[in-house]
Amino acid sequence: MLKKKEYKFWFCTGSQDLYGDECLAHVAEHAKIIVEKLNESGVLPYEVVWKPTLITNELIRKTFNEANIDDECAGVITWMHTFSPAKSWILGLQEFRKPLLHLHTQFNMEIPYDTIDMDFMNENQSAHGGREFGHIFTRLGIERKVVVGHWSDEKVQEKIASWMRTAVGVIESSHVRVMRVADNMRNVAVTEGDKVEAEIKFGWSVNTHAVGDLVQYINAVTEEQIDAQVAEYQTKYEMNTDNIASVRYQAKVEVAIKKFLEDNKADGFVNTFEDLYGMDQLPGLATQDLTGQGYGFGPEGDWKIACLTAVMKTMAQGIDKGTALMEDYTYHFGKDGEDSYNLGAHMLEVCPSVAEGTPKIEVHELGIGGKDAPARLVFEGKAGSAIVATLVDMGGRMRLIVNDVECVKPIMPMPNLPVARVMWKPMPSLEEAGEAWILAGGAHHSVISYTVTAEQLRDWANMMGIEFVHITKDLDMDKFKDQLMLSDIMWKLK
Ligand code: MN
Repeated sequence: MLKKKEYKFWFCTGSQDLYGDECLAHVAEHAKIIVEKLNESGVLPYEVVWKPTLITNELIRKTFNEANIDDECAGVITWMHTFSPAKSWILGLQEFRKPLLHLHTQFNMEIPYDTIDMDFMNENQSAHGGREFGHIFTRLGIERKVVVGHWSDEKVQEKIASWMRTAVGVIESSHVRVMRVADNMRNVAVTEGDKVEAEIKFGWSVNTHAVGDLVQYINAVTEEQIDAQVAEYQTKYEMNTDNIASVRYQAKVEVAIKKFLEDNKADGFVNTFEDLYGMDQLPGLATQDLTGQGYGFGPEGDWKIACLTAVMKTMAQGIDKGTALMEDYTYHFGKDGEDSYNLGAHMLEVCPSVAEGTPKIEVHELGIGGKDAPARLVFEGKAGSAIVATLVDMGGRMRLIVNDVECVKPIMPMPNLPVARVMWKPMPSLEEAGEAWILAGGAHHSVISYTVTAEQLRDWANMMGIEFVHITKDLDMDKFKDQLMLSDIMWKLK
């Protein structure tokens, strides 16, 4: 992955001065212990930082504004230790612009039955303090994540960990820069979109750069740089071709694209086989190896997928089991009640993070584009649970569509297929999921991820203020159609 910041999350505890200094001292002490234990758990991907107890409107507002401008802070976790009157939070919450998790927990796990008295009740009243706090969010219509349970429970910690990744996806989204080294493929609708809307909603900066500028970078690559890049390929992949000249050209292109991206502080790029003026091959191996390093990529000018890939790779950072550009290519329809499968692939550019085993470098004709035969990685995808996600512009709003899928080892060998591919069974079935996906207007390009979850993408979409559609094993087609219709009306009213 492209190495992202060492983000931190602030832990802010809510209380008030009604219960006296001794109680407030306990509140602070308890919060510090929770923070310490959460950090020691090893479950959280980012550090939690204790902040002084929030008891006044002024301090709440000041703390949230400090969190806004602190570049290291990716979000705030709040906990109402006692009853904190929620009117005190209105201004601070209205001015806060980062992700917030409401941890509805309490210091003690069980009720101390033998000793419980009114002092204990006054000091440990998260059960109703958290409801007061939750109410004001709902009334203000502010997005937040709610996690309920004891803070020492690993399931609770895992929920916090998962949300932290979503929060980093939200924060990183606002810096995503994608270089369009090509326009959208001619006449294609679903890969088009409103780039201004994308920058408003997501913060994605998508700007055009001439292919000729990239060609100048390609021409500047030295033989020594190509040697070093090829040597790196040999450590990661199996060379399964005699056409070393083609591999060397991809190495040259990779060195050039990487420098081009670095010079422009970009997180990803798009290109198209229709616009390779001055280039000998469509980047294949080059693009695959770059996406394996964490760069976003979209083919045929699909900048939405390039940005989404970059964001999802950021969310999966450190634990990624595979996150890649994908395209629905061809089907295996089952007969006599057998499962049907989707064979996903692309002309060339699927990321090797989803590969089972060591990918092979091969050189084959492309069949379209009229350029030289490009070197590419050929592999089969991993088996396992995953999601496929796509983002479409509905005209006036963006819609994120996610389908839960079960990836399988391809059910038959395909010795003549010269591309990277993944075979999966969409949930609940190819036939039903395919109908739902098409009714929702879903694209042929998607991002497949074995790590990022539908829940994370739903929370991310909610934070971004866009529509989210989820196709699951429990799909009910009638309800799904009603949901799309109602959702359409709702988003047009917004
Ligand atoms: Mn495509």
